[in-house]
Amino acid sequence: MGNIELKNLYKSMGIPEKVYDYCDNIWDSLKPRFDKIQEVSDFNQAKVLKAMQDNKVSEACLLGTTGYGYNDIGRDKLEAVYASIFHTEDALVRPQITCGTHALALALMSNLRPGDELLSPVGKPYDTLEEVIGIRPSKGSLAEYGITYKQVDLLPDGEFDFDGIRAAINDKTKLVTIQRSKGYQTRPTLSVERIGEVIKFIKDIKPDVICMVDNCYGEFVQTIEPTDVGADMVVGSLIKNPGGGLAPIGGYIAGKKECVENAAYRLTSPGLGKEVGASLGILPQFYQGLFLAPNVTANALMGAIFAANIYEKLGFSVLPNAVEERYDIIQAITFNDPLLLTSFCEGIQAAAPVDSYVTPEPWDMPGYDSQVIMAAGAFVSGSSIELSADGPLREPYSVFFQGGLTWQHVKYGIMKTLAVMFEKGLIEL
Ligand SMILES: *Cc1c(COP(=O)(O)O)cnc(C)c1O
Repeated sequence: MGNIELKNLYKSMGIPEKVYDYCDNIWDSLKPRFDKIQEVSDFNQAKVLKAMQDNKVSEACLLGTTGYGYNDIGRDKLEAVYASIFHTEDALVRPQITCGTHALALALMSNLRPGDELLSPVGKPYDTLEEVIGIRPSKGSLAEYGITYKQVDLLPDGEFDFDGIRAAINDKTKLVTIQRSKGYQTRPTLSVERIGEVIKFIKDIKPDVICMVDNCYGEFVQTIEPTDVGADMVVGSLIKNPGGGLAPIGGYIAGKKECVENAAYRLTSPGLGKEVGASLGILPQFYQGLFLAPNVTANALMGAIFAANIYEKLGFSVLPNAVEERYDIIQAITFNDPLLLTSFCEGIQAAAPVDSYVTPEPWDMPGYDSQVIMAAGAFVSGSSIELSADGPLREPYSVFFQGGLTWQHVKYGIMKTLAVMFEKGLIEL
């Protein structure tokens, strides 16, 4: 076939030959790097498959229940599969958990009691958690229930402030929350090994403290998960990595039996816990999405590395940079120019399988102090394991981009961002 036909097809899809060649050369140079990512996904694919086999997932597990959802074997078995993958005693994996924030709020609210204190030893948590905790006053926050909060920031070089953490731990400290991904901040994402290091430090001081990890965007990026290095709970969203792009909703909590039980009693009701909660027709997507998740995550990672290399070569500052190790699927690119930021998002939108013909516009998003532009043409609304990008319209005009269900799509999407800039005369190739 050769790539002449592909080049021509791409040309008909808005990719000038110059852009294609520029990108394709960089793609080729990354193959050794991609082989290493493939090795991680080989391992994780086997891990997921083994968990499904060991738990004897059967055809009957794909059928859902209605009403109360008693004896929902597919739901219960899926939770056992998650527990196997994360090497935990138990798991809660439910469509009734509406999103990542809800899963995190549930884990916190069910495991903390009035008078307890929550500690973040890794700085400010994800934006939406500020209202859950009550850092920003909010109805129903932990603060309203008399749960206090302490935060120890990372040191300027990104290291843990061990002295600060030791000083912050006290009689009331009940739960420690550790965010694996940098999210939309500029600190480094934590490797699982580093998470293990800080957990060990904390447990040496106070062994009975519960260590929870916000695992969003981190699942299957490495061969081990935070629960392999001492975390009592990992929490995440099914419209990110572990849903594999197929789960249309949901969240999970995997961890110690007591922690998961507490969460279940809070999600449904005291006395009912995990026994209720019909899965309706959602189980095939949950199982199949989980089965695909290691490979989808690897594809998204390849795309992020590709983007970092392209934009670094064009002279922009990228985080993580072109060569460093990755611990989540998010890529930040700093443009220092609003026109480049909006052009990037236009390119991602134009590359989407859904809503490719619309032009993203900056808007006043609740909770932000400047306008935000977002690009997403996803099968699942708001899914960020699908190719998506967003950035606030303020200095330094950085875009955060993530996802992509197949590397072919991310590759095309990034070419499209370049094509938009190239055609507007904003970059030279
Ligand atoms: C996405 C995310 C959340 C919140 O998840 P939502 O599904 O958007 O509510 C929390 N923490 C981190 C690190 C995330 O990336």
